Amino acid sequence: MKALIDGLLKFQKEVFPQRTDLFKHLATTQHPGTLFITCSDSRVVPELLTQQEPGELFVIRNAGNIVPSYSPHPGGVSATVEYAVAVLGVTDIVICGHSDCGAMTAVAKCTCMNHLPAVAGWLEHAASAKVIHESRVHISEAAKVGSMVRENVIAQLANLQTHPSVRLAQDRGLLNLHGWVYDIETGSIDALDADNRSFKSLLDHPSTCAVHARQANAAA
Ligand code: ZN
Repeated sequence: MKALIDGLLKFQKEVFPQRTDLFKHLATTQHPGTLFITCSDSRVVPELLTQQEPGELFVIRNAGNIVPSYSPHPGGVSATVEYAVAVLGVTDIVICGHSDCGAMTAVAKCTCMNHLPAVAGWLEHAASAKVIHESRVHISEAAKVGSMVRENVIAQLANLQTHPSVRLAQDRGLLNLHGWVYDIETGSIDALDADNRSFKSLLDHPSTCAVHARQANAAA
């Protein structure tokens, strides 16, 4: 805990004084353009890897970057998605999985989670991705986990589109959806391409998008 208090002191003494205008502006308003949904993993830091300032990302984090499908009893993720889209009017939603994900490793390797009933229940939201993943042949254990991470991003993008606020914004051509996989060791990101359902380097293909607002609008 000492490290956190030391960090806070450093923030107040060194960082905050250089950003007083920004924080004064943000004191009563926020206009984030992007809802960023990623894993709780300590190694994934959305603002660091996208170099965004306070006020620019609205963030949801949980084990496995999961978005439960819309249901009659929506939980915290559903409420946060609805607020981001319907109230804040974000124009983009990113679902970002990552390498060496503990949650997806457990799903991919069918790890016994009898002693973790809450985790086991939560990861049921990745069940559709698991079915697709298990239908494929994987050349190594690492490839197996990587495949599960990607399929989970695809599945959670599908779940996201069961939310009425998301569908309404798509129908109005106001919302783009992105599926990313962040590699911790290299800092690179692969993004899901709407055209051929494959992942490609975001650095080489910066316009890659999973569901373009216009495409969703045309399909509606
Ligand atoms: Zn993870």
